[in-house]
Parts: sequence; structure tokens; C-alpha cells
Amino acid sequence: MVFFVYMSLFITSLNSGSNGNCYYVANDHEAVLVDVGISCRETEKRMLRLGLSMQKVKAIFISHEHSDHIKGLEVLAKKYQLPVYITDATLNNSRLNLCGLPVFTFKSSQPITVGDLTVIPFSKFHDAADPYSFVVNGNNINIGVFTDIGHCCEQVVSHFKLCHAVFLEANYDEQMLTQGVYPHHLKQRIRSNRGHLSNMQALELFKNHRPDFMKLVILSHLSKDNNCPVLVNDLFTTHAEHTKVVVASRHQETEVFHITPSFEHTQLAGHRVKVITSKQTTLF
Ligand SMILES: [Zn+2]
Ligand SMILES: [Zn+2]
Repeated sequence: MVFFVYMSLFITSLNSGSNGNCYYVANDHEAVLVDVGISCRETEKRMLRLGLSMQKVKAIFISHEHSDHIKGLEVLAKKYQLPVYITDATLNNSRLNLCGLPVFTFKSSQPITVGDLTVIPFSKFHDAADPYSFVVNGNNINIGVFTDIGHCCEQVVSHFKLCHAVFLEANYDEQMLTQGVYPHHLKQRIRSNRGHLSNMQALELFKNHRPDFMKLVILSHLSKDNNCPVLVNDLFTTHAEHTKVVVASRHQETEVFHITPSFEHTQLAGHRVKVITSKQTTLF
């Protein structure tokens, strides 16, 4: 069993949606957070409930300056003196004060090493100053964090094809958005190629480019008003084959998923951890 732990990554969504985003990816020794869009207190509380330690978090990566991605950053980063990876354009377009913290910029497609994890940022289409998606690599496993995407450009497609698990935006159901109460300009903004991915856009990506080894898709950043968790879960499950489909909540953490290059599915008592082990991996 120790063998499997060595081979794995742990991931969870601490919150996902326009009210706050925070995603956790870890190996055995270190963790990174992508965005801190919920308060420091909520981040700590949810990690504690999952049995995760803030001491293991070694860096924070910021995707863009919208408040649902940075709201809790200042307090959390200062409390734990964490390095923050954020581009100059994102920082300058926010009201963040990161004085006293180690702050690093990054460039598209230039990998950043955090212990044994490697984070690869790449530019995305979204109505922010300088928005990025990320792939986190460790133990030969790739985790994608793909939210707040106007459309699936070639970069999204090429990185998606490499992922063993993804946080994938499925923001809105087209019909619900059309029939909903949002003003016309807001509907157009959401639909635009710098807005958000619809369920169907996300599904097209999933259907056409999901690699055989993708074990888990965590549907993320669902709209409160223009989507329905059951509807989007059913939509993806129909096409998922061996890939597990989970919908990230707007109000609480998901369980911790334990991703290995494998298929078997086990629940570990006490830690709300799912182990997805490999038929190809030697069992002792
Ligand atoms: Zn967002
Ligand atoms: Zn955004």
C-alpha cells in the first residue's frame, strides 16, 4: 500500500463557483493551492475537516484578479508566510497588498518547481488582465485546473489531453441562461469567448479529448442561477465510461481524491479519501 501512496496525488476543491474558488493539489510532502477565493478562516476550517494541514502548503498560484479567486489570499498568505505566484498584470489590476511576502511572477508555459511538484501555467481566454490555467504535475500524474475559460482554445485542448484528473468549468446550461433573469449584456458576457464555459462546451472538450487514463473530472465553477448540479452530472456521466464524474460544491469542500495511474476504487476509513488504484500497477 505504501507503494500506491508514493505514486499518487491528493486533490480537493475547497470551494468552487462565483462566490469563491480554492483548489488543493498535493503529493506526500507538499501541497499548492490554486486561488484563494474564500476567507482564510473558511480555508483553514475546510482543510481541517478533510484532515489536511496548512503546514504542507508551500505555495499559492493565482489564476486572475476576479474577487472569487483572491478574496482570502492576503490574510492566508500573510498568516502562513506563503510564496505567491501571480503575474504583474494580475497584481496591478487587483487591490491586493502582498508587502512582506515572497511574490513571484510567471510566464505562460514556463514550469515552476515546488518541491517535487511542477506547476505549468498557460494563458487562457477570460475577461481579466492576464488570466491563466494550470497543470500540476507530480509522480508522473497531471492535474488540470481549468475554470473561468471563455472557450476551449488549443492550449486548453492540448493540456486537457495530458490530465489524469481535472477541475473543469461547466458554468451554465444554455437554456437556463437564455430563459433566466440576467440582463442581456451579462448573458452576452458569460457566453462570450472571454466569459465562461457552458455545460455543452465543457462536454465537447470531454467527449473529444478525454485521454483513456483520465480517472476523474470535477465539474467546477457552476453558476448558482444558470445551472443545476444534477443535470450537469447526468450529462457528463452518460459519456464518462470509466472516468468518475463529481460536481464541486459552491458551499463546501469535496472529499479528498487520491489519484494514481489506476482504476480500482477504495474508501479509506476516517479520512474521507478516495483511492483510485491501478490494474496496471503491481499489487503486493
Ligand atoms: Zn471565477
Ligand atoms: Zn473570472
